[in-house]
Amino acid sequence: ASNEVDKWTKAPCRFCGTGCGVLVGVKDDKVVTVKGDKKNPVNKGFLCVKGYSLGKLMNATENRLTKPQIRRNGRLVETDWETALNLIAKKYRKYIDNYGPDSVSIYSSGQSTVQEGYVLSKLMKGAIGTNNLECNARLCMASAVGGYLTTFGKDEPMGCYDDIENADLFFIIGANMAECHPILYARVVRRVRNSDVKVIMADPRETRTHKISDLDLFMKPGSDVALLNAISYVIIDEGLIDEDFINKHTHLKQNGKEINLDEFKSFLKDYTPKKAAKITGLDPKDIRKAARMFADPKRESLSLWTMGVNQQVQGVFINNAIHNLHLLTGKICRPGSSPLSLTGQPSACGTAREVGTFTHKLPAHRIVANKKHREEMAKHWGIDVDKIPSKPSYHTMAMFEAINRGDIKALWVTTTNPAQSLPNFNKYRKGLEDVFLVVSDVYPTETTKYADVILPSAMWVEKEGVFGNTERRTQHFEKAVDAPGDAKPDLWQFLEVARKLGYGDLFPYKDHPEREIFEEYRECTLGTGKDLAPYDAYRQKRGLMWPVVDGNETARRYVAPDDPYVKEGIEFYGKPDGKAIIYARENKGPAESPDEKYPFVLSTGRVVEHWHTATMTMQVPELKKAVSETYVEIHEDDARRLNIRSGDIVKLISRRGELELKAKIGGRGVPQPGMLFVPFFDRKRLINLVTIDAVDPSSKEPEYKICAVKMRKA
Ligand code: SF4
Repeated sequence: ASNEVDKWTKAPCRFCGTGCGVLVGVKDDKVVTVKGDKKNPVNKGFLCVKGYSLGKLMNATENRLTKPQIRRNGRLVETDWETALNLIAKKYRKYIDNYGPDSVSIYSSGQSTVQEGYVLSKLMKGAIGTNNLECNARLCMASAVGGYLTTFGKDEPMGCYDDIENADLFFIIGANMAECHPILYARVVRRVRNSDVKVIMADPRETRTHKISDLDLFMKPGSDVALLNAISYVIIDEGLIDEDFINKHTHLKQNGKEINLDEFKSFLKDYTPKKAAKITGLDPKDIRKAARMFADPKRESLSLWTMGVNQQVQGVFINNAIHNLHLLTGKICRPGSSPLSLTGQPSACGTAREVGTFTHKLPAHRIVANKKHREEMAKHWGIDVDKIPSKPSYHTMAMFEAINRGDIKALWVTTTNPAQSLPNFNKYRKGLEDVFLVVSDVYPTETTKYADVILPSAMWVEKEGVFGNTERRTQHFEKAVDAPGDAKPDLWQFLEVARKLGYGDLFPYKDHPEREIFEEYRECTLGTGKDLAPYDAYRQKRGLMWPVVDGNETARRYVAPDDPYVKEGIEFYGKPDGKAIIYARENKGPAESPDEKYPFVLSTGRVVEHWHTATMTMQVPELKKAVSETYVEIHEDDARRLNIRSGDIVKLISRRGELELKAKIGGRGVPQPGMLFVPFFDRKRLINLVTIDAVDPSSKEPEYKICAVKMRKA
């Protein structure tokens, strides 16, 4: 009750990219309760089971890392901060001096704060002079970035969550919103109560999200581009396009060449509903129906997607093909009509995409390959422009390959758990054993097992920071309580090591580093189209959607009067001529298709109770009890054929590894016959020993959603 609370402080939820607002109740330096923030426009007071568990999480200190540790004679032993940080600085300095800046690396997270990401970018690119900075967001939304960049010339969605309340048709593809974005799903459900509002679900697996579906498209895994092209075909074939919009606001391209609408039509002839039916396994009538529902001129159409789309080797192409539907019909940049990709992590947008903790990026959506961008950041940082290498070095999977080869000799992992989350992990284990590995985290993880130094981190409201969510909303949180033991914020850890490496001049923050760093970052966002507001604005408000110009946030980009960068009508100003691109993309299928030897398609994903590798959620007794171990979902036809019952132990075997799991037939998810689904949260049963590390050639995001396996009773 509020009379038992000394103070309430607002914060975005620690878990997913939805960015729900919570109020944290504190008494005697303890979080005593957490509740939904009714004033936050994202969730209006509602939370999902993870959000409601935040209070319990903050008090789950029993297993917390509270002391720095270093490895001595093969064993991790407790030490003090000075010893641990000196060791890191000494090793990093030695490798930089002996082998060059590219011999060291940092692997960060979409769960780091904006300030932490900015400091890492400045440290690696501006001070050390290497692009060996990557981020786990590579594993979840790099393909969405690739889609927005190629189609519109700028990353991140043009729409916002309020589009949900304005949409008449939801096209949900590759997203189990009911479990992975439950609060947004609840907003969709409330909207769907209006009987005129329809939902199309395109997914190979039946999930809880299907409860609201009006049209189910259970396509074969890896056939998304074929389905989307077939919908485009019908939209054009039945005259459902907005030709005026296409002429005014788009170009069409195939294999890098300009094409006209007729040529695009010819390209799509390979994807008539009948032909696409062979690739997708769908009924051609359903494809036509979906196209008519989407393109109905009376409806506002909102596309929503996430990892089911992004985690494929055709992830960028699928994103492009979704954008095509909106551009062909002109259903974009207006309330209710938008392609809105859903982000996984709480600050995958704010920290990974916007600050740019990827090898190829610089702050405020700049890229290292662009000379002007390097010059702008060099000026901003007060360094020589030649310090920033002009070529990206390693994307995530390539970085771990470089570690395997010994080309990278030191790795600092912050707020993420690659020993559980990297696909095909057997291949990368040796590298983690050999590299000088620093891990900053709050609890022991699979990755800390390999660490030479473990740094105990402050968690969420034990520190101050800023997150950026899916709808471009930047949200601030204050420090509410002290971290347990000697745990310290990652930001403090980065700044200390930067100073010990001799870069103190570049990191002069003193009184209030979080504010000073944010203001420094903000300055380089102004005039870029991603303008941020002064720090205090975020302390007061429930977040603001960028660009924020003259104190006003932007609900919808590229359209006047919402977007201050557009004078009139619509302008996709990420492109030199203000026009977006409709791409003719071919369906190429997955990297590894099932065959006689490995006849099943394996897909991995999440359950609502657990956050990613469950480092935090397994500490909450109720969440642990609700789903304590992972399992493999099997279609009943396959189970019957193989004489498998729910609860039997089965073995999944791929070309890369194997794993024993409990079988589950029926329940919260039902994959199609020939498909298996395994949640990846369970550290005792690492499904990433089995998955494939093939990546999208452009986004470099791995194909977690499809690999070939065989299954037998154990
Ligand atoms: Fe937190 Fe996401 Fe649940 Fe909202 S939907 S309460 S942000 S985990």
